Amino acid sequence: MILKTSVLFLVFAAVINCHRAGESRKRLPYNSTVVNCVRFKRASNQHECVLTPEEMEGPYFVAEELVRSDITEGHPGMPLTLNISITDASNCMPIGNAKVFVWHTDYLGYYSGFTEYDPNKPAPDVDKANTTDDTRFMRGMQITDHNGYVAFETVFPGWYYGRTIHIHIETYVGGNVAHVTQVYFDEKLTETIVSQAPYNKRNFPRKKNSEDHIFVDENGKDLVLDVMRTETGLLQTTINLGVDPSKISN
Ligand code: FE
Repeated sequence: MILKTSVLFLVFAAVINCHRAGESRKRLPYNSTVVNCVRFKRASNQHECVLTPEEMEGPYFVAEELVRSDITEGHPGMPLTLNISITDASNCMPIGNAKVFVWHTDYLGYYSGFTEYDPNKPAPDVDKANTTDDTRFMRGMQITDHNGYVAFETVFPGWYYGRTIHIHIETYVGGNVAHVTQVYFDEKLTETIVSQAPYNKRNFPRKKNSEDHIFVDENGKDLVLDVMRTETGLLQTTINLGVDPSKISN
């Protein structure tokens, strides 16, 4: 009887926990203890049942399907493995066959395709800028496997005028833009990385997360990556994006 009550309590507690996460829109760390959200029949590798905050696309998306995991093209920087899983926020099931686009700047703050724009000066005042050249470093697309996973090999980004350091992620499901967001780094980690080569050669002030209007206004605190160091000191992170596949994002 005592055992039965305990089991019932555990199941009840798990459901409540799921509700709480949804109400607060708070992102659970990927490596947190697995919560058995029986209500959503979550797989053991799913830790979220909430819609991940969306953020603006910005003017530098390039709609080209560069299918590749390593997006660096040999450009320098602190190696970063970016694992992304895509989950249906309505039922916590992984979404396979989704197209996940990633783009960010090199260590000097340049976006490929737009290298005529000086990263030390304000961005063009347009929703979408026209590409200025054929470079495509730090851009790539991967298609999720049946567990909803993709992986990118890249480097820690640089920074440009007016923005904190960030990575853009855009997810297409069934041909529609289902989710558009940006992800960020913990300030302490950023301070450590940018004090090292090649980032420390950059003589241009960096905005912090707390000084970035998009981070502050668009739930950036729920989009900070949990970054770990591998045994050899490289950076590695996994983020689970809860998306609404029925939605066409703007
Ligand atoms: Fe950007």
